[in-house]
Amino acid sequence: MKVAFLDRDGTIIEDYEDELWRNVTEPDFIQGSIDALKEIKRKGYEIIIITNQYLIDEQIISIEQYQNFTNKFVEKIKDNGIEILDIFYCPHSRKSDCSCMKPKDGLIKMALEKYPEIDMKDCFIVGDSLCDVELGEKLEIKTFGIGIGNREGETLFVDSLIDVVRYL
Ligand SMILES: [Mg+2]
Ligand SMILES: [Zn+2]
Repeated sequence: MKVAFLDRDGTIIEDYEDELWRNVTEPDFIQGSIDALKEIKRKGYEIIIITNQYLIDEQIISIEQYQNFTNKFVEKIKDNGIEILDIFYCPHSRKSDCSCMKPKDGLIKMALEKYPEIDMKDCFIVGDSLCDVELGEKLEIKTFGIGIGNREGETLFVDSLIDVVRYL
């Protein structure tokens, strides 16, 4: 099974400054991101979301808030005929030194444990933060950085999720 490991905030939906997340109740899909998800699926990839949600343990949002928001996120995608395989999130605070906060690979390990049929060599990762890019490079899989400028390495830098499709 080949998987697209996608960051959520700033990649599929709009991201905000930490404090502003207190009052965000509806996911705001970035233009083209739904079409991009469709194309990624059409090319035979399953979609797994991997997302750092340190706002939970840092008590900016509650776990209920996260779950309600996630339900709306999944529903909206489903309404467009797209099935997401799974979502793995790190709820831990930035001080926690947990093993799942990107760029650490804990979320990927959880995915591999749950879906041992994943073939990492055929997978790719997309994100808009350095932590996403670093994780992808560490895993030595195809890595796309959205709007985070150029730097050394194999990472392909793109403007948005829809731009990733042409490289698949
Ligand atoms: Mg992000
Ligand atoms: Zn964690």
